[in-house]
Amino acid sequence: MNSKLEWNVKHYDVIVIGGGLLGCFAARNLARYDLKVALLEKREDLCTGISKANTAIIYSGCDTKPGTMKASMCVCASQGFAELCEELGARYSPCGSLMVCFGERGAGVLRKKLKDGIENGVRGMRLLSREETLELEPNLAENVHSGLYVPDTGTVMPWELCLAAAENAAENGVEFFLNTEVTDIGCNGQATIVSGRPEDGACPTPYAMGEGERRRDGTESERGFAAATEPGYLISTNNGAFSARAIVNCAGLDADRLLEMRFEPVVRIAPTAGDYLVLDTKAAGFISHVIFHEPEEKGKGLTLVPTVDGNILLGPTERDFADSNRQRAMDSGRRTKEKGLSGDGLATREYGYETEHEGMELLRSLAAEIVPMLSLDHVIRSFGAVRPNPFLTRCDNNGEWVLDDRSVSDFCVVESGKPGSGAGLFISLIGVKTPGLTCANELGKHVADKIAANLNSGALNPGFQPRRLSSARLSDLSFDERAAQVGINPDCADIVCRCRGVSKGEIECAIQRFPGAVARDGVRRRTGAGSGRCQGSFCGQRVGELIESAKKEEGGCHAGQIAAENAGQHTGQCAGQPAGSPLQLNTGRKEESYDVVVIGGGPSGMAAALGAAKSSGTCHGESKSHSAGNGAGNSGLRVLLIERDIRLGGILNQCTHKGFGLTYFGEELTGQEYAKRFVVRVESSEIEVLTSTMVLDISDGGILTISGKKTGLARIRAKALVLASGCRERPIGSLPVAGTRPDGIYAAGAAQKMINLGGYDLGDRFVILGSGDVGMIVARELATRGKEVVAVLEKEGKCGGLERNRVNCLEKYGIPLITRSTVSKVHGIGRISGITLSHNGLPAPDYIECDTLITSVGLIPERELLDRFGEALPDWLFLCGNACFIHDVVDDVTEESERSGRFAAEYAKSGELSVDSGELGTEHGELRSYVSYSASDRNPVQASENLSISTQNLATLHTPHKTEGCEAARQPALICTACPKGCSVWQTEDGWQGLLCGRGAPG
Ligand SMILES: Cc1cc2nc3c(=O)[nH]c(=O)nc-3n(C[C@H](O)[C@H](O)[C@H](O)COP(=O)(O)OP(=O)(O)OC[C@H]3O[C@@H](n4cnc5c(N)ncnc54)[C@H](O)[C@@H]3O)c2cc1C
Repeated sequence: MNSKLEWNVKHYDVIVIGGGLLGCFAARNLARYDLKVALLEKREDLCTGISKANTAIIYSGCDTKPGTMKASMCVCASQGFAELCEELGARYSPCGSLMVCFGERGAGVLRKKLKDGIENGVRGMRLLSREETLELEPNLAENVHSGLYVPDTGTVMPWELCLAAAENAAENGVEFFLNTEVTDIGCNGQATIVSGRPEDGACPTPYAMGEGERRRDGTESERGFAAATEPGYLISTNNGAFSARAIVNCAGLDADRLLEMRFEPVVRIAPTAGDYLVLDTKAAGFISHVIFHEPEEKGKGLTLVPTVDGNILLGPTERDFADSNRQRAMDSGRRTKEKGLSGDGLATREYGYETEHEGMELLRSLAAEIVPMLSLDHVIRSFGAVRPNPFLTRCDNNGEWVLDDRSVSDFCVVESGKPGSGAGLFISLIGVKTPGLTCANELGKHVADKIAANLNSGALNPGFQPRRLSSARLSDLSFDERAAQVGINPDCADIVCRCRGVSKGEIECAIQRFPGAVARDGVRRRTGAGSGRCQGSFCGQRVGELIESAKKEEGGCHAGQIAAENAGQHTGQCAGQPAGSPLQLNTGRKEESYDVVVIGGGPSGMAAALGAAKSSGTCHGESKSHSAGNGAGNSGLRVLLIERDIRLGGILNQCTHKGFGLTYFGEELTGQEYAKRFVVRVESSEIEVLTSTMVLDISDGGILTISGKKTGLARIRAKALVLASGCRERPIGSLPVAGTRPDGIYAAGAAQKMINLGGYDLGDRFVILGSGDVGMIVARELATRGKEVVAVLEKEGKCGGLERNRVNCLEKYGIPLITRSTVSKVHGIGRISGITLSHNGLPAPDYIECDTLITSVGLIPERELLDRFGEALPDWLFLCGNACFIHDVVDDVTEESERSGRFAAEYAKSGELSVDSGELGTEHGELRSYVSYSASDRNPVQASENLSISTQNLATLHTPHKTEGCEAARQPALICTACPKGCSVWQTEDGWQGLLCGRGAPG
C-alpha cells in the first residue's frame, strides 16, 4: 500500500459499524476469534439508537413463525439468557409473561401462539382460564377472558446489556472509536483516494471510491495516488480512514444506507414510530409478569412490563411519523441503477425519538381498560421509539430503486462481497426489529462465525474471557457488602441521585471505566442516576459537574481516544478501587442512639430540631411563641439533624429574593437571610448535625440506614423521628407533553439553583411552563439578567402562584402570562428549538421559538421513605413542612415544624403521644401529621406588629373589582403585595376593605 495512504489508515481484520445492541454483541462474539476488530460509532456514546428505546423484553419465541431464523434464535436465546446475563454481570428478571385476551378472537390467537410455541420448542407454556389468569395477575380487569402463561419470558435493562457486551468486547481487545461516522466505503483492491492528501496538512478524511465510480457531483473518479493492495474495504470517516478485510454493518436505522455506500440496495428501511410511558417504582408490584394484551379489534394491544428497576413500562404504540422524517429518510441519498448515488448524499439520518399525543392517550385508555386500578398519576416519563421496518426493493422503469410492497418478516441478514472478488465479506443486519434485543447475542455469534470461517478458518482467541469484570449497583447490595464497598471507595457513601440512591463513586466509575459516559444520558444509562421519580431535577447539575471535572482531569481528551487507549487494559474495578484489592468489611461506625432524629435540614427540619431541643415538655395549648428563637437546646435530649446537601438551609439557599419572614419575624428577608437565622440557632444549640448525609432507609423500631461522607454507611437508632424532607418538582415527563426530550429543559427549582448558586447561564430565550411561584420568581430572575422570557404559560384560567408574585415578577417586568394554555409538544434534537403552544379549546396550536424551557408544574411532598409504613404511621414517626403538604409560605412551615419537633421530643421522653386529639389532623393529606394548626387558624396580629406597609406594596389589578353594591365596584381593585396573602383591597369612606391578613390598612 502506498505509504502516504498508510499514514492515515488504521488496519483491522473486521470493522463493525454501529454501537447498538447488534454491533456490540457482534464485536463481543468476534473477539472470541483471533482477529483484530474495531467498532465505529458515529455518536458520542454507545446504545443511543434503536437499542436505547425498546420494550426490554426477552421473548420466549412463542410468537415467531415456526421455521424462521427468528424463531430458532429466539428460543435458544431466551433459554440461555440468565446464563448470558450472569456472564456479563447484567440484571435479568425471569418474570415470565401472561398473554391475555378479552374475547373469542383473542382466545384463538392465544391457542395459535401455544401451537407455534410448542413447534418452536418453547418450554412450559400453559393456557389459563379466567380464574387462573386473575390468580396470577389479580389487577387485571375482571372481564378478562383467558390467558397464556409463558415462563421463559424475561426482562433486562437494554442499556446495561449493550454496555456490558461492549465492555466485555473491549476487555477482550476490541477497539472502539466513538464520534466516528462512516461517510463512505470503498474497495481496497480498486480503491482510489480522490481527496485529502496527507501532505496538504489538513487532510483528515480521505474519500475512498471504487475506480470508475461516480462522485456525488457526477464526475467519474480517476485512479489516485494511493491504492490499497489487500482485498477488503477502505472506510472513510470523520475521524480518519480505516481498512478492513470484512465489515459487519449494524448501523441500525442507517444500515440500508451503509450497504448502499458499496452495493446495490436489497432491502430498505421505512421507519415507523412508537410511544411509551414509564411509571414510578411506586407502582412496583402492581403486576408481576410481562402482560401482552391481545385486542379483540384490529390494532395493537397494550404491553405492560415490570422492569428490572421496579418501574412499569407501558407501550409501545405503532404509528407513522407525523413529520417529513419518513419521506426524507426514504428519498434522500439513494443509489439509483443508472446514476449511482443521488439526492443529498448518504449522510445518516437523525431521529428525535419523539412521542405523539395520540399515542400517549391511546396507552392511557388501553391501561384504563386492561388494568383499571393502575394509577396513571405514577407516570414519570414518556419516550418515543423508532422501528426500522425492512422492505424489499426493486428497480422501477426510471432506473430508481423503490420499495417493494413486501416487508421482510424474518431477520434480514444480507451478505455482500464475494470472497475472492477483491472485496471481503460485508454482512449487514438491516431492519432488525423485535426480538432483536433477545437475539442480539445469537445474531452476533452467527455473524462472527461466518466471518471467522471466511478470514481465519475459525482460529480462536486463546485469551478470550467471557465474564465481564462488572461492578454491581450499590443499591442492589446488602448492607455489609455496601459498607465494604464504601470502605474501599469512600465516594460510594456520597449519594448524588436521591431517587435511585446512586453514589458519586458509581457515577465517577461510569465516567471513567470503558466505555465511559460523556453526558448525563450516558450516566443515566449506566447507573440509573436521573431516571428516578424526579427525573434528574435534583442530581442533574451535580452529575454534569462530575462529567466536567472528569473531562478536565483527562485534559480534554477525546472520547474516541479514551476508548482506543483503554481497550484491552480495563480492569473492571470501580473508580478509586485499587486493582485486585480484597473487599474489606467495614460496617460503618457503631450504631448510635438519639432521642430525636430529624431528616432534612431545610426550614422545617431546622425548626423541628430546634423545637425538639428546646422542648420543656409542655406541648398542650402552648401559646405561640418563637420557641426556637433562642438557640441552645435545653430539653436534655440528644437531637440529630441530618441533611443530604452540603449545608443547612434547604431550598431557601437558592432564594436570593425577598418575601420571607413577614409573619414569623415581622420583617421581610431573603430566603438566604431567613435560613441563616435558623442555621445560627442550630449551630449555637446542642443539636448534632450531619450534612452531606442521606437517609437511605427507615425500618421498624426507628433504625435508620444513613450514608454520608463523614459516617460512611451506618445505622443509627431514633426514639422519635421527624421527617422534614421537603418536596420535589413534578417532572415534565409526567405531563402529556409530546415531542422530543432535548437539552435545555429544566424544572424551575433546579434552574433557580443552577442560576443563583451555580452561576450557570442556561440560555437566552425562555418559555416558562406553569405559573407556580418558583416559575414566576425564576422568570423575574432571568429578566433581571437580561434574558428574554417569551411567556409564562398557565393551563388554568388564572395565575397558579401568589398574586404578589404575579405582580412583582411578571407584570412589573412585562412578562406575558398566557392563561388557558400549555406546551403540547417540545421540538428539537440535541437542544430544544421551540414548543407548540396549545390553547384550551382552540384547535390551532402556535409555535414559539425558544432555547430553554422551564417547568413549574407542581410540587410533590417527598416522603417515599415512609412508603413501607403504609398509611398508618407508627407513633414515633412525625412529619412536617412540605414533606407533609405543600405550603405557600415558609413562616407557616417554621411554626408548624417547631411544634412537630416538640411533639417528637415529648414522645422520646415519655414513649407516649401527648397531643390533643384535635391536633392529630389529617386535613392536608392521607398521612397522619402532627401539624398543629393550619395557616388560616393563625392569629396574624402578632406577626404584623413591626410591619410598615406602604402604598408601594399595592399593585393595580388588570380587572376591576366586581363586588356588587360596593363603592369599589367602580374603582380598579388593588392587590396588597406586602405579604404573601396578596389581599385584594379597595378604599372606601370607612377605610381600606378586603384586608384578610388583619395587619391593618396599607398606606
Ligand atoms: C419499539 C421497539 C421495541 C422493541 N422491543 C424489543 C423487545 O422488547 N425485545 C427484543 O428482543 N427486541 C426488541 N426490539 C428490537 C431491538 O430493540 C432492536 O432489534 C435492536 O435494538 C437493534 O439494534 P441495532 O444495533 O441494530 O440498532 P441501533 O441501536 O440503532 O444501533 C445502530 C448504531 O449505528 C450507529 N450508526 C449509524 N450510522 C452510522 C455510521 N454511518 N457510522 C457509524 N455509526 C453509525 C448509530 O448511531 C447507532 O448507534 C424493539 C425494537 C423497537 C423499535
